Amino acid sequence: NQSLHEFDPDVAVAVDAELHRQQSTLEMIASENFAPVAVLEAQGSVLTNKYAEGYPGRRYYGGCENVDVIEQMAIDRVKALFGAEAANVQPHSGAQANAAAMFALLKPGDTILGLDLANGGHLTHGMKINFSGKLYKVAAYHVDETGRVDMAEVEKLAKEHRPQLIIAGWSAYPRQLDFAEFRRIADEVGAYLMVDMAHFAGLVAAGLHPNPVPHADVVTTTTHKTLGGPRGGVILSKAELAKKINSAVFPGQQGGPLEHVIAAKAVAFKAAATDEFKDRQSRTLEGAKILADRLSQPDMAEVGVSVLSGGTDVHLVLVDLRDSALDGQQAEDRLHEVGITVNRNAIPNDPRPPMVTSGLRIGTPALATRGFGPDDFREVAEVIALALKPVYDATVLRERVTVLAAKYPLYA
Ligand code: PLP
Repeated sequence: NQSLHEFDPDVAVAVDAELHRQQSTLEMIASENFAPVAVLEAQGSVLTNKYAEGYPGRRYYGGCENVDVIEQMAIDRVKALFGAEAANVQPHSGAQANAAAMFALLKPGDTILGLDLANGGHLTHGMKINFSGKLYKVAAYHVDETGRVDMAEVEKLAKEHRPQLIIAGWSAYPRQLDFAEFRRIADEVGAYLMVDMAHFAGLVAAGLHPNPVPHADVVTTTTHKTLGGPRGGVILSKAELAKKINSAVFPGQQGGPLEHVIAAKAVAFKAAATDEFKDRQSRTLEGAKILADRLSQPDMAEVGVSVLSGGTDVHLVLVDLRDSALDGQQAEDRLHEVGITVNRNAIPNDPRPPMVTSGLRIGTPALATRGFGPDDFREVAEVIALALKPVYDATVLRERVTVLAAKYPLYA
């Protein structure tokens, strides 16, 4: 019963170093967040020891009386949070939630229609070497010249390819989708509609983004992005699809569920129903707008930096560097140098290869969780703007970042 530090100081030192990194830098990767201590505690609990194949009340192992209570709580809470008829909280990740949902709704060789990867879609929405691109025929829609999903193209492709499944959702897109219009198009061609709200689920839970649940047959999500919980996935569905989805998750895709993660999901769903969470999500949105506005000013245009679609309605900003002296990799490195963590991101019609790119994806959820308000976001936006200019002072900018990080201690 030795502690981690006693038994394995090598791993412990690296974990401590990661804690220090998270505390001393500004995390602006749009898909990341800081899970509350209660979530970390549930995830680090003895539930990690338990096998529980099956579902609450119908397990293939003995001794499930406690995990049954926990998993049922997670199911009930997430259904209430999003107004869903049915929920499966077992997917180990967002990718596995999508795999299971597609496994439930499709046969190999069926056709799916999703947002193109370079236009903001996810790997699991039909990328060539992902399971979704290998098992299914894929048609992909795009954004138009204004940076918004081209719904006329969605309708045209749906009529042309007659997909069995249309996927609405994204990993890198700064606007809201028109779920009602996706529903209309899906009905027109007899397709299922799946919304992957992995990125914006926290905004939906807070009532600050349209809820896709009333429109879609199936809604998948991760629990660790804006939702701020443990790493994992969830599938919400209409009641009549619940049986198919449960059987696609287990035994279709997975063996034993991660009950320690499911407990942490339950805690996160409780947190997501609070006023404090709503306040966080509204600071997240405000911060992203402040950042988009700063990076759209004339001094940024002068150095070839602009914002895709001209702004944002969500928790992230996509920076267009096609006219900048910096490529995506260089810009990511610049911000890393001053203590801000972001990721480079391919943008529509990106002239550079995917490992370099001409874009940055910058998100505000983690900083909002830390406590950042509008004034802090103005300061961060200024630091980012200055760091992306040809001449910059890394030492001074790093100091400004250190001041901000110190103002909001993390896991203190
Ligand atoms: N769906 C979307 C839209 C995502 O952005 C992501 C993660 O980036 C996933 C699914 C996959 O989630 P995970 O990384 O948990 O497999």
